[in-house]
Amino acid sequence: MNSQFLFKIEHLFHLNDIEEYATPEIAETLHAMLVRLLEVNSYMNLTAIREEDGILVKHIADSLKIAPFIPQNAKILDVGCGGGFPSLPLAIARPDISVTSLDSTEKKVNYVGETARLLGLSNLTTLCGRAEELGHDPALRESFDVVTARAVASLPVLSELCLPFVRCGGLFVAMKSGEINEELAASANGVKTLGASPFQIQSFSLVSHENGIAPEGRTVLLAKKQSPSPSAYPRAYAKIKKTPIK
Ligand code: SAH
Repeated sequence: MNSQFLFKIEHLFHLNDIEEYATPEIAETLHAMLVRLLEVNSYMNLTAIREEDGILVKHIADSLKIAPFIPQNAKILDVGCGGGFPSLPLAIARPDISVTSLDSTEKKVNYVGETARLLGLSNLTTLCGRAEELGHDPALRESFDVVTARAVASLPVLSELCLPFVRCGGLFVAMKSGEINEELAASANGVKTLGASPFQIQSFSLVSHENGIAPEGRTVLLAKKQSPSPSAYPRAYAKIKKTPIK
């Protein structure tokens, strides 16, 4: 990592109110993650964003925007981690938490696991499988302090996939971009059925350090788990999609 990269991170994180994570140590590990992502992405489809600045803003800064919502020492699950967002930046910036990265695609899970190993991250483990099946595993169900997901499914579907993993008193953190009012309304009953409080909404603009790139709207939705999810949920994926939970 050169000093220019650290300067870029400092500037970008300052613009996005996440400057507490702009330390030389964190920047160094983020840089190693970025170099590896760009390299592997040239032969494996991990992200459509292919340049450093785009990845810094749209993947890394975006992932870290939820770090302040994660309690100290929390055990967190990232459902549908794909190329490792938000899992990898969170594990890098928050060594106190332990992160489980879950995806149904084996090559993505292997990429995230191998990246964590190469970066020396001892607080990230991986899990390969379908969320709607693993959510019934007694070892995993209602066992995480925080469950998060970014760009995986619409809110009613996502709530059914994620909330059964959250322990009572824990938090579901859904990361969304674009217009969400319709799916938010469609998810309201289901979230209650699954034992959680209504979503609390935090909207913000993701700001680029590059002049000329317009800020992008983002929403973080937070629901607190209050009572156990009924054992019928999550249902089989076809059912979840076809008849959204009410
Ligand atoms: N969170 C990442 C990846 C989003 S793409 C990011 O924001 O960049 C969505 C990912 O979710 C894909 O990798 C897909 O394999 C995974 N996925 C979709 N449905 C899933 C399910 N039911 N169980 C587990 N993983 C799922």
